[in-house]
Amino acid sequence: MIIRNVRILGGEPVDIRVGNGVITAIDPAGTTSAEGDAVDGRGAIALPGLVDLHTHLREPGREDAETVQTGTQSAARGGYTAVHAMANTSPVADTAGVVEQVWRLGREFGHCDVHPVGAVTVGLEGRQLAELGAMADSAARVRVFSDDGKCVDDAVLMRRALEYVKAFDGVVAQHAQEPRLTAGAQMNEGVVSGRLGLTGWPAVAEEAIIARDCLLAAHVGSRLHICHVSTAGSVEIIRWAKSKGWNITAEVTPHHLLLTDDLVEDSPVGAYNPIYKVNPPLRTHADVESLRAALADGTIDIVATDHAPHPVEDKETEWSAAAMGMVGLETALSVVQEAMVETGLLDWAGVAQRMSVVPARIGLLSGHGQPLEVGAPANITLYDPSVRTKVDPAAFASKSRNTPYEGMTLPGAVVATFLRGRPTALEGKLV
Ligand SMILES: [Zn+2]
Repeated sequence: MIIRNVRILGGEPVDIRVGNGVITAIDPAGTTSAEGDAVDGRGAIALPGLVDLHTHLREPGREDAETVQTGTQSAARGGYTAVHAMANTSPVADTAGVVEQVWRLGREFGHCDVHPVGAVTVGLEGRQLAELGAMADSAARVRVFSDDGKCVDDAVLMRRALEYVKAFDGVVAQHAQEPRLTAGAQMNEGVVSGRLGLTGWPAVAEEAIIARDCLLAAHVGSRLHICHVSTAGSVEIIRWAKSKGWNITAEVTPHHLLLTDDLVEDSPVGAYNPIYKVNPPLRTHADVESLRAALADGTIDIVATDHAPHPVEDKETEWSAAAMGMVGLETALSVVQEAMVETGLLDWAGVAQRMSVVPARIGLLSGHGQPLEVGAPANITLYDPSVRTKVDPAAFASKSRNTPYEGMTLPGAVVATFLRGRPTALEGKLV
């Protein structure tokens, strides 16, 4: 198969020839002979297939919200070729049996590669370490461990987890939220929460855990990853920890790069609309500016979606009762274009680093995140940055519709996604 007239990372137009799941030739556009199937890549850029370090696929247990099949279809439509499936399922992915179940579902129904994340503690309850070694040794070969949705708030357990995963170069991905500082918290603590009378979620609840965990990771000499960084103060702490040479990585979500807490008070969909309720909460303009700068300068390493599907009945209810989270796989690249590329903060090579190369490196995925060159696996995303599209949740492949971007016009569209040379999405549609 040939992908014609495509610009790798926005460079000169080339033809990419693919065979047996790898890239077999890259020639100047128009010089490749005609045999084989061809995909017209005119106008599109080619990126290494995107890798998400933070996806909620909801299976097993909440198949009404998402399944491995629909979640990976959503990923394919968003340009992703691999996702890490978070452990807060029902049952929790805290044993070799459950991570192998998710891994097998991925092999059978996945429209991208599925790498299960293992829970750090049994049942995400924060009391006892889960069987990390058994999950690492299982067929799923788990390397990323997280209680995401909950914080490993016990410092002793966090230290033990960091020590344990060192043996197989695993990484603990922390959901940084000091629970006692966020009891009943509904939105970012600040001017807007004060006006609305909603219980505030202070920045310090995130920052205190990040500071503690950076110190613990340095003490133990282990890898630490920080999920969904949302405040300017967190950025300063991570910048300081990295200046020490500590082995720390961090992610930011697309929504924290674009949306702010004023939307809870005033938005196109009214006040108190739970579509904006998310954990960690949307913060201030100053936080967004700081997160963008940190992603540009490498203080924050990657973009991760925190794709969090919820059925309508869990979101379309009063603010205090609504579930936290947003779907994100199908809009991530467009939001990153809007927040980072159109603002001149990143070029496409920079986007590829932060949405494919580095997330694959953190997750130790050998077949993903490789530069598009001869011999590399043909995991390729074709993306047309020149179009503008109105977000229509009804067109999502995800089973859930809880996007904060409904009706917004965002730049760019995924044209096609190839997993080891096989199209999983073509002309924006699932294959
Ligand atoms: Zn989380």
